[in-house]
Amino acid sequence: MDSPASSTAKPPINWPAAIMFPVTTLPVLTELPWYLATHEVSAARWVWAFVLLWLNGLGITAGYHRLWAHRTYSAHPALKWFLALFGGMAVQNSILIWASMHRVHHKHVDHVDHDPYSAKRGFWYSHMGWMLRNYPSSQLDYANAKDLLADKVVMFQHRHYNWFAFGSNILIPVALGLAYGDVWSFVLIAGFLRLVVNHHVTFFINSLAHMWGRQPYTTTNTARDNDFLALLTYGEGYHNYHHLFQMDYRNGIRWWHFDPTKWLIAACSWVGLSKDLKRVPNFKIQRAMLQAQFERAREKLAHINSHPTRLTELQQLLEAEWQQFSATVAEWSKLQSEKIDAAKLQMSERVHEAQHQLQERWEASDMRHRLIALERTLEQALEMQRQRVALLRMQMATA
Ligand SMILES: [Zn+2]
Ligand SMILES: [Zn+2]
Repeated sequence: MDSPASSTAKPPINWPAAIMFPVTTLPVLTELPWYLATHEVSAARWVWAFVLLWLNGLGITAGYHRLWAHRTYSAHPALKWFLALFGGMAVQNSILIWASMHRVHHKHVDHVDHDPYSAKRGFWYSHMGWMLRNYPSSQLDYANAKDLLADKVVMFQHRHYNWFAFGSNILIPVALGLAYGDVWSFVLIAGFLRLVVNHHVTFFINSLAHMWGRQPYTTTNTARDNDFLALLTYGEGYHNYHHLFQMDYRNGIRWWHFDPTKWLIAACSWVGLSKDLKRVPNFKIQRAMLQAQFERAREKLAHINSHPTRLTELQQLLEAEWQQFSATVAEWSKLQSEKIDAAKLQMSERVHEAQHQLQERWEASDMRHRLIALERTLEQALEMQRQRVALLRMQMATA
């Protein structure tokens, strides 16, 4: 539920952020255009700026966001250190602060007083404004981050955050500049420009990804799916899906969705750097999409001015679809408890005698195959129904 912002008086300025943003942005707006107009700049600067941009972006999305804030997979210590270093270089605060606040964002999404970057307070506030003052909604409370307080990598990075953030931003561009024999162009392009670009593209996830795009999975919050934003945000543009299924390591769930963060996490699992990748069952995704379709159809039906007979006919058709949907969902829930029973049976096998064990294992695996086949049938039933409800909505549009 939304409530008006509790206080009209402006909170005090958050000086570290209020100084850091102008200090990093000014050279990009003034010195850099002059430098590019008056100097030859070789491709190496741009390539390194791009590489660092992506390392910082993925440090935030694969590390801060999907690993630490949401625990969508577990990572080998080597991968954790890598993500903590390059995520820290993005200068978006320590993992502990970022992830704890992000969990609050998900818990209180859109609430004007409790969501730290509520999109209901407008573009500027959700993009950057929330960082420039010490708003009460940004007050730190690690009660929601006990797992992170026990994570050695997270706590080391938190204690030495200045080194991770500022040390890396000075040392890496300067070292590259020394290697190529020109420090200043590297500081400008791979330093300032890369940092400012990465700031804004990741801030888009809090601002634009809550304002611009479609809502295929849920209309209960402002989060949107947007393919164009996914291109800029290392795959985080599928934000409508993410807000409904935050435990999934994927944000773009189809193979054609541009989600390089998902590809990185999956590739890491092939070489043992990540494991326990969590995915939401396809049925639940289909169920959410259909539910959103039903909501839209009902809304449409409430607002059309059609002949009463036609209106009743459409209402009955929609009601029949809803009945069938409820029946499929009930059948699926029953199937899930059967699956749990089958798993328990397999567990208990271990304590039985050898011959008995073999017999039961065969039965259990046979049962498992049957359950999987049934589950597929139910998924397909929902997919077909989604097409029918879409057709029904088209009929409503012309009614
Ligand atoms: Zn969000
Ligand atoms: Zn999230």
